[in-house]
Amino acid sequence: MVKYIFITGGVVSGLGKGITSSSIGLLMKARGFKTTNIKIDPYLNYDAGTMNPYQHGEVFVLDDGGEVDLDLGNYERFLDTSLTFDHNITTGKVYSAVIEKERRGDYLGATVQVIPHITNEIKERIRKIAKNYEVVIVEIGGTVGDIESMPFLEAARQMQLEEGRDNVAFVHVTYVPKLKAVGEQKTKPTQHSVKELRSLGIQPDAIIARSEDPLEEGARKKISLFTNVPEEAVISAYDVEDTYEVPLLLEREGLGGYLTKRLNLDDRKPDLKAWQEIVEKYKGLDRTVEIAIVGKYVKLADSYLSIKEALKHSSVVNDVKVKIRWVEAEDVEREGVKLLEGVDGIIVPGGFGARGTEGKMMAIRYARENNIPFLGICFGFQLTVVEFARNVLGFKDAHSTEINPNTPYPVVDLLPEQREIKKLGGTMRLGAYPVKIKPNTLAHKVYGSEVIYERHRHRWEVNPEFVEQFESAGLVFSGVACDDERRMEILELPTHKYFIATQFHPEFKSRPMKPAPVFKGLVKAAKEKKFGS
Ligand code: GLN
Repeated sequence: MVKYIFITGGVVSGLGKGITSSSIGLLMKARGFKTTNIKIDPYLNYDAGTMNPYQHGEVFVLDDGGEVDLDLGNYERFLDTSLTFDHNITTGKVYSAVIEKERRGDYLGATVQVIPHITNEIKERIRKIAKNYEVVIVEIGGTVGDIESMPFLEAARQMQLEEGRDNVAFVHVTYVPKLKAVGEQKTKPTQHSVKELRSLGIQPDAIIARSEDPLEEGARKKISLFTNVPEEAVISAYDVEDTYEVPLLLEREGLGGYLTKRLNLDDRKPDLKAWQEIVEKYKGLDRTVEIAIVGKYVKLADSYLSIKEALKHSSVVNDVKVKIRWVEAEDVEREGVKLLEGVDGIIVPGGFGARGTEGKMMAIRYARENNIPFLGICFGFQLTVVEFARNVLGFKDAHSTEINPNTPYPVVDLLPEQREIKKLGGTMRLGAYPVKIKPNTLAHKVYGSEVIYERHRHRWEVNPEFVEQFESAGLVFSGVACDDERRMEILELPTHKYFIATQFHPEFKSRPMKPAPVFKGLVKAAKEKKFGS
């Protein structure tokens, strides 16, 4: 029998339910169970692809091209696995499937309703994924009490009835604030949110109490008493320095053992050795390099979550901590490149639209002319091409047609097939495609391979008509798409210490034990710049 663990959240959002779900996934996987994670997003969007990063943080991209919630990135990193678009269930997907079935006549004669049609569709989608696993963690986004999450909670409740109590457990993540004036941890919000959950027919099996400091014994007892959860299952998840410490904390608190017992799974000892080593190594780093991220969504660090993570992974292997300097591209336009002074490396990440593009190009130029290690990603790659066209080739007003459709030098443009597209959802060039790497290039050196698979999310491309002119001026396109050599995938400048940009997003495949090669190379170059080789 498959075992299901549903994760719900109460009191406030932003408690780290995603990290909790990923951590529980890791604790199960580390016990040798075939484990996976599913994320439910109760919003009406079909997928995350059309959302601004300021709404929900970065849009994560999977191998199969699914544009999904950033928590799937956390799951992939914690479990070192690759997920599919079906691992992200949204209200949009569920309702469109049900309406399509209704139109097809699948429910002939019936009145189509939330219960049972929508709830059946939800359960079916969860079970379809579960077929290949022993343990499935299902995180239900939002907070209990939200209108949007009701059908999902109802489906989860039904699943416990249908699968049996031994096979379905509920973990509720709540917040325990400490009021400064009284200096006491307050359990009332937790009591209320569990009450709300129980009114929907769900009795939590474990409470993850998020708090600043470890949970006081009195608070634990109170939560247990009022929520009908045994004391050993009231887990104190206090703030830790780094999210990678959370699985170790939860294991120490006994959550892994408790859940396996509760679900009648074999009582195995988890193997968390490699994970522990990474956490300790990262904490023990004493040298630091500073890398600037010049973007337009920098006010919300989650907009660039996978980039942050890729830098973390690269810092462990390079034995040096990376401090990120967040730089708003528009501030560079106003105040100049002095905002970048002293950094050991620069990243210009992906993005859309005109705001901040000139500032990003100022940063690219600064990196190029001052031999500062540089990595451009997707839009950052395209703007590197534009900057080079303007300032090296002297193509005045060169641009991407995304930003200036009337530019005299459309060095970044749409290929004919993208011009036909009218519907914007899910129609970019999405997902993993093979890239062919030229021998004897920096790209070849960092990847150590001639064909790589990286994840994409873009509509525009380097205009093939200009490639020759770029190359004769010294820019090297060291990677092209295997399926279509008109598509430029990697560029580099051989005269520079470390100057590389990619049309794809290398950050999406970076893992704690397998850092993305171009990030690893960037941090290495930054370290050599600061400390010598
Ligand atoms: N806006 C650019 C395009 O659509 C780049 C996209 C991105 O950076 N992800 O091609």
